[in-house]
Amino acid sequence: MKVFHGSVEGAISEQRGATFTGVVWADPVMPATDGVTINNVSFNPGARTFWHYHEQGQVLYVTAGSGWICLEGSEPQPIRQGDTVWIGPNERHWHGANTKNFMVHTATSIGKTVWQEAVADADYLRSAD
Ligand code: MN
Repeated sequence: MKVFHGSVEGAISEQRGATFTGVVWADPVMPATDGVTINNVSFNPGARTFWHYHEQGQVLYVTAGSGWICLEGSEPQPIRQGDTVWIGPNERHWHGANTKNFMVHTATSIGKTVWQEAVADADYLRSAD
């Protein structure tokens, strides 16, 4: 067992760039431990992940704002504060804010995350919020 107490005094938030579009900040909640990583992630309006999948799945819990979750081959679905999403192993997807609101979620990722290409504006904007 390990106890991870809240944010470490003086810890610096990470701005995420290479696998995200727009302004995205992340704070670690639990560093990689037995294949599980937990991050609080903040997306400005319009910001989202690249396409990606998690080898053993992911739980998203939306703590503020509203946005979108999209599985490849499906329409984007709106998510908002209080919603929980389970993304199964190897399901290719993206998640992020909508165009009018920020979103903050706690992401619990299990196993390796495999990052792919950016979500094209046309695909993102098709969420038509
Ligand atoms: Mn994900």
